[in-house]
Amino acid sequence: MEIFRHVYQIGSSIADRNLFQYLFVGDNTILLDTGASNTPGETIFPFLKQIGTDPARLSMAINTHADADHHGGNASLKQIANQVKLTCGEQDRLIIESPDRLFASRYNQWIPDHGVGLGLNPEASAFVRTLVGPPQRIDQTLIGGEYIRIDDERSLQVLHVPGHSDGHLALYDPVNRAVFVGDALHGWYCPNKASEPSLPPAYYSVLAYLGTLQMLHAFEIEWIYSGHWPTFHSSQVSEFLCESRRFVDTAANLVWGYLEKHPDGVTLQACMDECGPALGTWPANNQWLLMYPLHGHLLYLEQQGRVTKLRGEGHVQWKIVN
Ligand SMILES: [Zn+2]
Repeated sequence: MEIFRHVYQIGSSIADRNLFQYLFVGDNTILLDTGASNTPGETIFPFLKQIGTDPARLSMAINTHADADHHGGNASLKQIANQVKLTCGEQDRLIIESPDRLFASRYNQWIPDHGVGLGLNPEASAFVRTLVGPPQRIDQTLIGGEYIRIDDERSLQVLHVPGHSDGHLALYDPVNRAVFVGDALHGWYCPNKASEPSLPPAYYSVLAYLGTLQMLHAFEIEWIYSGHWPTFHSSQVSEFLCESRRFVDTAANLVWGYLEKHPDGVTLQACMDECGPALGTWPANNQWLLMYPLHGHLLYLEQQGRVTKLRGEGHVQWKIVN
């Protein structure tokens, strides 16, 4: 779908959700996100054919962040469009290049200490493994602040928007006042195709996420386009940013309230079980993703010196410092 002149949204599905990539066509043709391992073959190349764009014209593909549904198509894209320069945020490069590292340090990193993670669901884990594709090197990294020229009239500004991942990138198109954010913004939930909650917000660094929301508030944004969420336009833009902040505050309050009720300590899993229902209802098999924001809030409290970590038998616990 052409959303602006020579700017396209490429749509497909991931589980019950939308999955979008974006294409900026000009002297330099830029693809934002490569989808999952099957997305280039099943969706991106057929789309290029449909709009009469030769894959040989693709100059650059930018991964907004490290996740199977956003960079898993890197290897299959490169197979057909060998000239394409693969890029991503500097802090996400190592986990994008190596599926093993992605699983070890993003999906399963808390299994030993907290007993939560994707790997505890072998079926879901195997599915994500197919989505992420084989290892594939990145050609160049970005840190935010760069401008990428499309043609004489248009450049895209690279924004560093961490929170969901450390190296998360977004693109700002000043001509259309549009920002393309990948999964940088979460609102109250990630919807399925019927607009019902599918995933909880998955920011994992509270301060970085709030910083991203604060930075985007200062931009002149008419349109938000993302990896899975619907398009936000005009007044919906600030409403979505406000809703994203309100979720963070609500989660922070619930976590603190739960800690106060259990002065001997709480585990991450117990915190997810207790605070989850008050934050929203997601399909049970997606509930594990609450580990990201709730671990983020517990870690932030620990960094403030308000809670301390207890290590003993069983999983790590946190308790309020008296
Ligand atoms: Zn995603």
